[in-house]
Amino acid sequence: MRKGSAIKCGTVKNEMKNVATGEQSPNTRPMSRKAAAGEYMNPAQVEHFREMLTDWKQALMEEVERTVHHMQDEASNFPDPNDRATQEEEFALELRTRDRERKLIKKINESLMMLDSGDYGYCEICGGEIGIKRLEARPTATLCIDCKTLDEIKERQMG
Ligand SMILES: [Zn+2]
Repeated sequence: MRKGSAIKCGTVKNEMKNVATGEQSPNTRPMSRKAAAGEYMNPAQVEHFREMLTDWKQALMEEVERTVHHMQDEASNFPDPNDRATQEEEFALELRTRDRERKLIKKINESLMMLDSGDYGYCEICGGEIGIKRLEARPTATLCIDCKTLDEIKERQMG
């Protein structure tokens, strides 16, 4: 365990420039420097991602709830057939959005389970580290960027 490197910073000329600043995804809370600097997927990082995923899931579930209520509220408000058609299009769109949200919630749940089992943060294909930066931007990522890229190429070729 190495500690105390900050103690003599006051007078000693600081030659070690901090290169780890910046490049955080703007819509995520950056983890503390201590957590980020530690061993990959140390308890502080696991905790950070658990919190991030839990908050995200909570927000999505509230969004799904809102959509359901919105649809129930509006379902009977349009006696005019033209209005009904527009409304049905709107509903179709909302259902698709809700479907996406449900899938995302499922992915978040899977990520949370992987956090519990200690598999979180490692690529499903090659087993390598997905990387903190990638996980900060895509907390549900299960593939490293290389495997993901290959996967997308294959998908395009099949699709
Ligand atoms: Zn990989």
